[in-house]
Amino acid sequence: MNLFETVKRRLTTRQVAEHYGFTISRNGMLACPFHNDRTPSMKVDKRFHCFGCGADGDVIDFVGRLYGLDARHAALKLVEEFQIPYEHDNKDRKTTPPVRQKTQAQAYRELEQRCYRVLSDYQDLLRRWEMIYRPNPEATEWDPRFVEAVQQKDYIEHLLETLLQDPIEIRAELLRDHGKEVLALERRLSELGSAAERDAADAVGDPALSDDRGCDAAAGTDR
Ligand SMILES: [Zn+2]
Repeated sequence: MNLFETVKRRLTTRQVAEHYGFTISRNGMLACPFHNDRTPSMKVDKRFHCFGCGADGDVIDFVGRLYGLDARHAALKLVEEFQIPYEHDNKDRKTTPPVRQKTQAQAYRELEQRCYRVLSDYQDLLRRWEMIYRPNPEATEWDPRFVEAVQQKDYIEHLLETLLQDPIEIRAELLRDHGKEVLALERRLSELGSAAERDAADAVGDPALSDDRGCDAAAGTDR
């Protein structure tokens, strides 16, 4: 029996979803991790199907999608976590030694921590900008940094709270949906780094900083 059959014969999507901490109602419904699901619209049993977004597949698809793994790695993750007896053929041993699996989990945690750091640095910067560039009442134009601070602060706070509190599958979803955005933000922050420190020290009016082209480049301006 090949790897995929072994795993599918051994595990149902429901079992695995429970293992990953999803709350599943008696009739097998859960809040779909693949779309913003307010009422549980995913049915899980041997396979899964979401009536909200149409996500559909077997247990290997479920795990693959949840963790951003291809089918082989998703199946091997399940073999390892559920200690399913499986004779690795040479190909498996060569491409995915156990060390690699561990590295993947570590890499995920590191990415999560890195995103958290970037977001909280950005939050600090927005707080400073909001104070430093607050327009006086008669100002006709607002400094773009103040505008950005006001526009972004709730959104960033929401992302940070999500990373701190939500269960793993929600955090994974956040990293999937916003990971690139956060990494773009990281680049921008490092470019702004020294400038931002000068801002804090000198307060207003450095002409070199007023053309803040980075403003639109990062950080969720699309929402
Ligand atoms: Zn869905």
